[in-house]
Amino acid sequence: MKILKFGGTSMASASKMKEVVRLINKEEGKKIVVFSAFSKTTNTLIEISDYLYKKNVDAANEIINQLEAKYNQLILDVYVDEFYLNEAQNLISSHFQSIRAYTKDLFTLFEEKIILAQGEILSSTLMYLLMKEQNRNVVLIDALSFMRTDKNFEPDSTYIKEKLQKQLDAFPDADIYVTQGYITRNAYGEIDNLERGGSDLTASLIGAAVQAEEIQIWTDVDGMQNNDPRYVENTSPVRRLLFEEAAELAYFGAKILHPTCILPAKLNNIPVRLLNTMQPESQGTLISNKMEKGKMKAVAAKDGITAIKIKSGRMLLAHGFLRKVFEIFENYQTSIDMIVTSEVGVSVTVDNEKYLADILNDLKKYGTVTVDEKMTIVCVVGDLEWDNIGFESKTVGALKDIPVRMISYGGSNYNISFLIKTEDKKRTLQALSDNLFKN
Ligand code: ADP
Ligand code: ASP
Ligand code: MG
Repeated sequence: MKILKFGGTSMASASKMKEVVRLINKEEGKKIVVFSAFSKTTNTLIEISDYLYKKNVDAANEIINQLEAKYNQLILDVYVDEFYLNEAQNLISSHFQSIRAYTKDLFTLFEEKIILAQGEILSSTLMYLLMKEQNRNVVLIDALSFMRTDKNFEPDSTYIKEKLQKQLDAFPDADIYVTQGYITRNAYGEIDNLERGGSDLTASLIGAAVQAEEIQIWTDVDGMQNNDPRYVENTSPVRRLLFEEAAELAYFGAKILHPTCILPAKLNNIPVRLLNTMQPESQGTLISNKMEKGKMKAVAAKDGITAIKIKSGRMLLAHGFLRKVFEIFENYQTSIDMIVTSEVGVSVTVDNEKYLADILNDLKKYGTVTVDEKMTIVCVVGDLEWDNIGFESKTVGALKDIPVRMISYGGSNYNISFLIKTEDKKRTLQALSDNLFKN
């Protein structure tokens, strides 16, 4: 069994939807196909929810009408058979009616999650109808019948495995099983989601649950690029990545992958292939447990970082100082990304400012606290084992004209990270590309 996940950008028009079906048909053997919402739909559903939170029902209705019209227009070019066009029209009408039902009453997170789920439900059902129209041996299985997160909002892999298997067993002769990415039920049985970009995680969880031979993530670029193509021109694809390298890149901003989607694949040793729907013949990127010795792979950047420095004259020989500092972050359920220490203090970064004021207040008991906001972590990933001499100086050398607030190296064998001002991000990424990847 193979898992094929298609992102929203891969299905942005009728012709792209048909191309996706062609790619699914080309793949031999049984497969589970995971669909994200069509391009921009989730953003629009969030916009609708924002208006409903603000009780601006007119504005919400205007966007709902526009989105519905867009779907109705789209399907005119998708189906040839009147029957399937009718089915699609009815589907769209009923889902938009249910979205409108939430414009009348109290609007909470509960209702928002239901609205956000409509994107994946619509896309997967429309794709399913298209495959049906082409006489494919396909079934649609509802992700809400097997996806579940636990009380810590972590995927419940035992439950997923058991319930998914039941769904598959109900249709033993099917060739293609279609389902939705991103959406799940939570520990209370409510409709929830795996956060933005979470369809990649769905694909990986399903892959792990069925011990798939491969997980394919189809998107709009030729695999993992060696730098962020949104900021740097002429990036090149990285053909092979170790699971750990891919996880570092995803966590530190390579949007092509959801940060947590590598772990289930790695734990089950299932190769992940990143492929391009616009250039299906390209080889893309293969992520596996095979390390390419001595290679610098890629650069990624994560914004929205805050750096906090705690300086204490008493840190010298003061055992327990770091424990006290870390405990404060733990008390406010705020995780730390980067850490650097010196004899007089410690600097850490966080990407969540929710409890920043409280944290700073508590930290002040232990020293002088300074804060730098609007920062970016830039992370260079590859085989950076410390006996591979020269890589550190090459990366540091690339940043000779850029003010660097923190450097972190040695936490893993795969990454060296720099903290810089977000305003310097583009030139930092470019400088790293120029120095590391130009022959
Ligand atoms: P999908 O809709 O298929 O899930 P995403 O927008 O989530 O697609 O991810 C693909 C996008 O990730 C690319 O279009 C690209 O702009 C962005 N991206 C950021 N960093 C990288 C990188 N290092 N390699 C490839 N793509 C990247
Ligand atoms: N549709 C969701 C989003 O836009 C999930 C995904 O695309 O993976 O974030
Ligand atoms: Mg994505």
